[in-house]
Amino acid sequence: MDISDLATRISKGERRALARGITLVESARADHRDQATELLARLKEHGNTALRIGLSGTPGVGKSTFIEAFGMMLTGQGLRVAVLAVDPSSARSGGSILGDKTRMERLSRDPHAFIRPSPSQSTLGGVARRTREATFLCEAAGFDVVLIETVGVGQSETVVAELSDLFVLLLAPAGGDELQGVKRGIMEMADIILVNKADGELKATATRTCADYAGALRLLRKRPQDPPGFPKALTVSALEEAGLAQAWDEMQALAAWRRDNGHFDARRRAQARYWFGEEVRRALLARLDTGEARAAMDRLSEEVAEGRMLPAEAAREMLARHLDD
Ligand code: GDP
Repeated sequence: MDISDLATRISKGERRALARGITLVESARADHRDQATELLARLKEHGNTALRIGLSGTPGVGKSTFIEAFGMMLTGQGLRVAVLAVDPSSARSGGSILGDKTRMERLSRDPHAFIRPSPSQSTLGGVARRTREATFLCEAAGFDVVLIETVGVGQSETVVAELSDLFVLLLAPAGGDELQGVKRGIMEMADIILVNKADGELKATATRTCADYAGALRLLRKRPQDPPGFPKALTVSALEEAGLAQAWDEMQALAAWRRDNGHFDARRRAQARYWFGEEVRRALLARLDTGEARAAMDRLSEEVAEGRMLPAEAAREMLARHLDD
């Protein structure tokens, strides 16, 4: 494969080249990994222009309906929109998220949109790395907005927060006690809460739920990266395409404020540091998982399991023998 040619075509915004590039970064093969690294390096100058929006919500809350309607609105304004997914469970369920072709049918046909299903990886770390690199490729291909979707399963929101500039939490209209069910940690990550399905019979409940969440957000500790009024809760109806323009206005206002106040770049810098650390950890662990080191790991685990060695002692021996050159 001619990586230099692929990089050029991606930087020109060719969708097929972008899809091939993403396939390359998703591959676990060692030779593909080398090519992927070369591809990313060649495109280094092209990235960092898109707004990366993380979007999370439990199954059935309306993520695909929202993304389709929101995405169509953005492409209607001339913006190019990419949709990526972080979902470690897709490997198990055979592609629950963005997997079936019927999801986001209109958006997937839109020439200004690019939709990519979650890579089939069994670990969250694996999916996260690939999504991060796919995000980078989408930016290099000139996309204005990258939507990174995840099913709310606890851990995956944290990963999406490490991949995005803004974190949007999609919630359903609910009674008062269900509100408690949203974990505090997830509330604390949210920049904007959207209470979806604010239409028909659910409208009044949605409005009340939204007020409840707004109240809960006000009780959270003030974060330096928030302008006055944020984090914020709004109602939307993905089905009736209501409130979407306002949601987009709020996202843009927040992004603009963070850009002007240095928080936008600071967050990306912190993310880059975090991912660097992750890469190092991953590489070190990989070294402990091959050949002689693997055998030593197995042998020492057995020693620890049988109580002949302490975990810390065995770990020290492992590192001394197999990492210190
Ligand atoms: P996802 O699992 O989060 O991707 O949710 P879907 O987008 O597949 O939506 C789940 C169900 O909720 C579908 O039956 C949708 O038609 C419905 N739904 C999505 N958005 C809305 C909305 O704004 N209002 C109403 N009433 N129903 C909605």
